[in-house]
Amino acid sequence: MGFKRLTVFLLCLGWGAAQAAEPIYYTVRIPVPQNHYVEVEARVPTGGQPQVELMMAVWTPYVIREYAKNVEAVTARGAYGHPLEIAKSRKNRWRIQTGGADPAIVSYRVYCHVMGVQDNWVDDEFALLNGAATYMTLADRTARPHDVQIILPAEWKTTETGMPAAGGEHHYRAPDYETLVDSPVVAGNPAVHQFDVEGKPHYLVDVGEDGVFDGERAAADLARIVREDAKVWGGLPYQNYHFLNMLTGGGGGMEHSNSTALMSNRWGTRTRRNYLRWLGLASHEFFHAWNVKRLRPVELTPGEYETEPYTTSLGIAEGFTSYYAPVLIYRAGLSTEEELLTSLSHAIGELQTTPGRLVQSLSMSSFDTWIKFYHPDENSQNTAISYYTKGEVAGFLLDARVRGDTHGGKTLDNVMRLALERNPNGYTPEAFRAAASEVAGTDLSAWFARVFDSTAELDYNGALEWFGLRFAEDHAGPQAWLGAETKVEDGRLMVTGIPRGAPAYAAGLDTGDEIVGFGNFRVRPDEWDTELRNFRPGDRLVLLLSRRGRMVRITVTLGQEPGADWNLEAAGESAHRAAW
Ligand SMILES: [Zn+2]
Repeated sequence: MGFKRLTVFLLCLGWGAAQAAEPIYYTVRIPVPQNHYVEVEARVPTGGQPQVELMMAVWTPYVIREYAKNVEAVTARGAYGHPLEIAKSRKNRWRIQTGGADPAIVSYRVYCHVMGVQDNWVDDEFALLNGAATYMTLADRTARPHDVQIILPAEWKTTETGMPAAGGEHHYRAPDYETLVDSPVVAGNPAVHQFDVEGKPHYLVDVGEDGVFDGERAAADLARIVREDAKVWGGLPYQNYHFLNMLTGGGGGMEHSNSTALMSNRWGTRTRRNYLRWLGLASHEFFHAWNVKRLRPVELTPGEYETEPYTTSLGIAEGFTSYYAPVLIYRAGLSTEEELLTSLSHAIGELQTTPGRLVQSLSMSSFDTWIKFYHPDENSQNTAISYYTKGEVAGFLLDARVRGDTHGGKTLDNVMRLALERNPNGYTPEAFRAAASEVAGTDLSAWFARVFDSTAELDYNGALEWFGLRFAEDHAGPQAWLGAETKVEDGRLMVTGIPRGAPAYAAGLDTGDEIVGFGNFRVRPDEWDTELRNFRPGDRLVLLLSRRGRMVRITVTLGQEPGADWNLEAAGESAHRAAW
């Protein structure tokens, strides 16, 4: 770049900073919460142009969600109240004929009744408003602040969000559309538990505690997890952080730069199993504050909201996050070594018993998430593998590999930190692999090619050896296995899926078959699983099926139940495991 061009460039930057584009001002009302609507009024600067176009996001990770489908009653007017012509130009766009009016004031309603962390919900108890699902913005996408004033129903007192406050109650200002989309808002009367780590406030915002969920205990334990994350990454990269914890049914979590939306049920602190599951969800989403929000696949750089971006790196972004979630709970002293191994064994068992692992690579599972992972059908297990599951196992193997190659001197933590340091604007697969190789001190490109890009079986030996682990013998003894997944539907036992290679697959059972009887006996649908326990591997069964109304008899030779062969256990004491 020549000197002269550089000067012009700097002048442009200076001018841009001095002339920050005018904000869009939104007012959001929730007039009758039980009707599930929000009313949005947007004051949109037009710059006096005769036409402006508005758009809504089409997707959030990693699904085309078509948020515009919930928008209705769209009108536009000038500042003096005179109506302006507004018409749809695409499924998610609207074009206003301004007649020179500046601003144009656009009003619309959004129906908010999807209990999911990437959608909108409004009822008499609370609201979750996601930016992508709520706000139209200017389609030209000039960088500009997005200012949000929320007007609550009289009975509600609180809004909680990671969006920067703008002074006054329930008033926020996102510096740009990216931040608006990245800052969900919870409104209602949630219980808020604050804790500080490294002098930064963190808020556990509980909707629906109902005297059941122990918010104080959960907040104290989150603080310990946050401290462990800070050790992995070397500090906390935000000013404050909100755990928006909706104990409202539904399930799942969504990561943001300085907040996360979590959905589960209110019984999360009542049993050990439920609590570990809730901590696991929170730990996973919090780790994303770095892995994906800051250490991000370059293809996921924010900016494109109308077509889906393709990346092969979700095995790292999601899978490694799933590996770290229970590891950091363990490091925080909140789980036992056995509980950590159980969680890891679950992932290994799922991977090793899913036939799709031999069909779809980890990289392609990521690439095709838009059409496969989020659109599963009865054959998914035979044709696809989850990048969460295989990525978690890959994280375990890579961690062990790096530790082994460096004789315990370095870990996957070092890889993650270096990858972030080297790639502040997003990494390519090659760049991440280079960072891993640099930390390990050996060329890991063949390892990545095998684990990420191929469908070859994984080799656990090195990892087991390093951590002093082995796969436990199955003490339950061989269990008979038909390999037909079933569910009871209207009192009938229906086959819902058959893994490739299972006895049911070989015998010719089909998805959609109703299992009516076996031998001379009527099947009792709710006791089918128990009845199968009366048989041994190698036994032959004649099944009576109803296949689209036609009665069919099929002879099947039962096999041996897989899955119990993948339970990790300690093979004696290990200093390496203690350093996990
Ligand atoms: Zn995730």
